Amino acid sequence: MTPFEMPEPQHSDPNCIFCKIVSGELPARRIYEDDRAVAFLDIAAWHRGHSLVVPRRHVSDVTTGTGSLSEIAPAVDAVAKLLKQRLAADGINLLLSAGDAAGQEVFHTHMHVVPRYADEPGLRLLINPDGPPDGELESVYRQIQAGA
Ligand code: 5GP
Ligand code: ZN
Repeated sequence: MTPFEMPEPQHSDPNCIFCKIVSGELPARRIYEDDRAVAFLDIAAWHRGHSLVVPRRHVSDVTTGTGSLSEIAPAVDAVAKLLKQRLAADGINLLLSAGDAAGQEVFHTHMHVVPRYADEPGLRLLINPDGPPDGELESVYRQIQAGA
């Protein structure tokens, strides 16, 4: 291993909600994990199954530090396939925001993996600010688990 390939030390930020989800200190509907990334349902889902994939270590955004995108890429692949299959989604959007101007609100980098359905198609309908109806997060979570 060259010095350029040395992994960064695992870093956790005690004030970061996604670090707390990764560690289990805060609850989340976790749908997938591997040694470098964790995926869970977004609490304010834009569409059924909207999930976030985060690196286990704290990296504030994709322009900071080293290699956070490649670190979560295998999990993003797996989660996109999982959601498409288990929820019979018709499509998937991936969205990653870096910085205030880009709309990033939680500064632990994350990829939005958003299943899309033919009855609400297109990029203009990607963001649904109303959030999910009552009970939907739990029913989607059960549907994803049921296929395991
Ligand atoms: P951003 O705007 O930073 O790209 O997206 C942050 C996302 O994190 C939002 O879609 C928001 O709904 C989600 N989020 C914020 N707090 C929590 C939380 O405590 N739990 C979960 N599961 N999602 C959260
Ligand atoms: Zn963090």
